[in-house]
Amino acid sequence: MKRVTILGSTGSIGENSLDVASRLPESFTVSYLATHSKVETLFAQAEKFRPHAVAIVQVPDAEGWRARFKKLGVEFLTGLAGVEELAAREDVDVVVNAIVGAAGLRPTLAALKRGKTVALANKETLVTAGELVTATARKHGAKIIPIDSEHSALWQCLEGENPETVETIILTASGGPFRNRSHDEMEKATVAEALQHPNWSMGRKITIDSATLMNKGLEVIEACWLFNVRLAKIRVLVHPQSIIHSMVEFVDGSIKAQMGTPDMRVPIQYALSYPQRLLNDLPRLDFSRWSTLTFQEPDLEKFKCLRLAYQAIDEGGTAPTVLNAANEVAVHAFLDERLMFGDIPRMVDRALQRHENHQAADLENVVAADRWAREFVGEQLRRM
Ligand code: NAD
Ligand code: MG
Repeated sequence: MKRVTILGSTGSIGENSLDVASRLPESFTVSYLATHSKVETLFAQAEKFRPHAVAIVQVPDAEGWRARFKKLGVEFLTGLAGVEELAAREDVDVVVNAIVGAAGLRPTLAALKRGKTVALANKETLVTAGELVTATARKHGAKIIPIDSEHSALWQCLEGENPETVETIILTASGGPFRNRSHDEMEKATVAEALQHPNWSMGRKITIDSATLMNKGLEVIEACWLFNVRLAKIRVLVHPQSIIHSMVEFVDGSIKAQMGTPDMRVPIQYALSYPQRLLNDLPRLDFSRWSTLTFQEPDLEKFKCLRLAYQAIDEGGTAPTVLNAANEVAVHAFLDERLMFGDIPRMVDRALQRHENHQAADLENVVAADRWAREFVGEQLRRM
């Protein structure tokens, strides 16, 4: 039986993680839950899963809710400090980080410092502070197991292999909803159009990132840190069917691919059960329905965010921190209809050009670069 904490339990990955746990009650028990603000959903989850404690960042009438949770026998923590405290609780085996954005960094560090295994969906943690996060994991003997489907695929392909025999990491990308749109059409895309992902149902921020292909850029950076590889070894390949979740090519020319239906519960379950595999009754892939799998190069002219991500990891230091923070602010502004779709890469590009790079091994530098980028893009938005 593994005891599980879920940070970001009311989101898309959070809900899928609870679904995985509820399907395998003999294997997983939910010990702690944390979320940003959906207190009613959190309460319903607590009624069903009876965790020891929950944490919420923002809540109206905290005392009233504390009393209601107390009746369930569930401790109630609030604020960012509450989430961080809960991430570091000793009596768990795996901490799922399904928080969206760089807000997930401190809880990740808190769990790693306790030597906990972190099942990481929150890719922004590794983009904003990859060096610090991987060093913290090493120092405390903690494991980071990816939930992101591509990285779960790579993790599975690399099981039992000598890392020195890896020639190329091939990250597949669906290409998003604008794969076949012209550059001009894409510039003026609406929020509703950008939220129409062809294959996956996900939270709003990552869905927009998938439309700009920034998601793939963030994933390239995530892969560099998770697998300790340089950018030159990674190749992005558009694969619109999202059946092959990623591949590894070895020095002898042999290629391993991991496949399956596009269902996040599969990589979530694997991250929770690792190194075991557990029987489940999720829908299986029917190859007879997929007679054609296609591949193409990504268009770096049209999808500038992907190019900017390559540039940021190549530059190193706090450049990826700035890329990530500028993107978060620009994506929220687009979702609030304060920015055009085509302005997202422009904002990120400007922030990268103006930023003064520092080494990113210390939390202070990362926090300062993150704050600078948010203020810089905020200022640009006020001027528009
Ligand atoms: P979402 O918006 O659906 O959910 C985000 C969750 O984080 C919510 O529960 C929210 O309340 C919580 N949250 C936000 N700030 C928090 C804070 N400071 N403390 C505690 N909780 C906080 O997002 P999502 O689609 O589930 O994505 C979560 C992460 O997983 C992102 O980093 C995303 O890139 C990654 N991811 C998602 C998918 C997917 O299928 N949705 C796939 C791969 C990777
Ligand atoms: Mg992914």
